[in-house]
Amino acid sequence: MLFRSITIVKWIMSAKRDQGGIESRMPDKKVLIIGSGVAGLTTAIELAKFDVKVVLIEKEKTVGGYARQFTCKATDDCVKCGACIVEEKIDAAVSHPNITIYSGVCLTDIVKKDGFAISFVDRNHEKQACEVDAVVMATGFQPFDPIDKPFGYKRFDDVITNLDLEKRLRQDGVVKRPSDGSVPKKIAFIQCVGSRDSSLNHLWCSKVCCGSALRMARLIKFREKSMEISVFYIDVQSFGKDFQNNYDLIKDQVRMIRAIPGDVFLTDDRKIKLEYYLPALRKQTEELFDLVVLSVGITPNRNADPIAEKIGLKSTGSEFLDEQSMVSAPGVFAAGTATGPKSITESIADAGRVALDVLNYFQTQHN
Ligand SMILES: Cc1cc2nc3c(=O)[nH]c(=O)nc-3n(C[C@H](O)[C@H](O)[C@H](O)COP(=O)(O)OP(=O)(O)OC[C@H]3O[C@@H](n4cnc5c(N)ncnc54)[C@H](O)[C@@H]3O)c2cc1C
Ligand code: SF4
Ligand code: SF4
Repeated sequence: MLFRSITIVKWIMSAKRDQGGIESRMPDKKVLIIGSGVAGLTTAIELAKFDVKVVLIEKEKTVGGYARQFTCKATDDCVKCGACIVEEKIDAAVSHPNITIYSGVCLTDIVKKDGFAISFVDRNHEKQACEVDAVVMATGFQPFDPIDKPFGYKRFDDVITNLDLEKRLRQDGVVKRPSDGSVPKKIAFIQCVGSRDSSLNHLWCSKVCCGSALRMARLIKFREKSMEISVFYIDVQSFGKDFQNNYDLIKDQVRMIRAIPGDVFLTDDRKIKLEYYLPALRKQTEELFDLVVLSVGITPNRNADPIAEKIGLKSTGSEFLDEQSMVSAPGVFAAGTATGPKSITESIADAGRVALDVLNYFQTQHN
């Protein structure tokens, strides 16, 4: 099921090719893809299959985007988190003769002409320039920075984000308190940090953090059965059958508390104290934890705005790139979380659809 959307994309692509809907080879076309997350990699691979030449640029030194930082959350079985797909995509893109990847790159200019004239500085500080026929913005998202929220992030060592936890689990395999390296006995997850928050005008649901927290809780309990895990939430967003399966397997092993803590304190014995109100009991409660994990969500990647503006893309009210604005920007496309919150498989499916849009655009130009 995890790969259903990917399979559908593959089927559509091959059906189009077989029906003669799209020219099976377009060797005279060149596309710039900005961003090498799972969306950029997928768009590159799908276009390269049609002999389109792809220049893929990535501002970081390593390719793969955020998904590459995630840990495998398999317990006895694979829990279908999607994290390992990115490694497959990297291998496929790196080895494809039609794809040239530049990482550690700074895009310096992009000018719309007949196509687009691109200049960038590569990781050896050398200037590069090329002309392309289309541009795909696969510039991804920014995880919400919780520094200004009253949860003690960066003030208390043992308040971390879900991304910090992903990296720690990937590196060490076990959860430890950053303050003293001890194994925590009580962990709290706080959901919806930076999402569904009217004070920030972030009204969207990030879609991935409920599933991610529950998979993480299941992995931690699997490795350390005595660990007590509580999840503070507004309501649990269920996306897809895999989510429901995971939820059914974990919900009796974690405490689900329908409240979001107001304030977070450090006690003298270096525990984290959460204060929260339980509407059902009309009661203010406080409780001590060894580690608090903030489930930060997906927010727009503002560093891509100047590029988007130069090629005629606008942002929506929520400030993700607006797919509607592509209608008046021929040759410009956007894939993955650049246009809004998506899971890894949704980003892959979206990137497959965008590759088709690019091919159709070339086809229309040709006819
Ligand atoms: C805490 C957390 C947990 C998650 N857990 C899961 C999970 O368990 N399962 C799941 O399916 N999904 C999960 N997700 C969502 C997942 O991370 C995204 O679906 C996926 O990473 C989206 O890929 P992308 O390519 O759109 O964006 P990204 O991964 O953000 O990749 C974008 C790339 O573009 C590059 N870039 C940006 N601007 C520029 C520029 N100007 N020039 C060049 N390069 C640029 C970036 O450096 C980056 O490498 C989680 C997200 C978060 C925040
Ligand atoms: S990374 Fe996720 S999808 Fe891949 S094997 Fe592990 S649990 Fe399964
Ligand atoms: S997925 Fe869950 S934690 Fe994330 S924003 Fe939506 S409801 Fe909140």
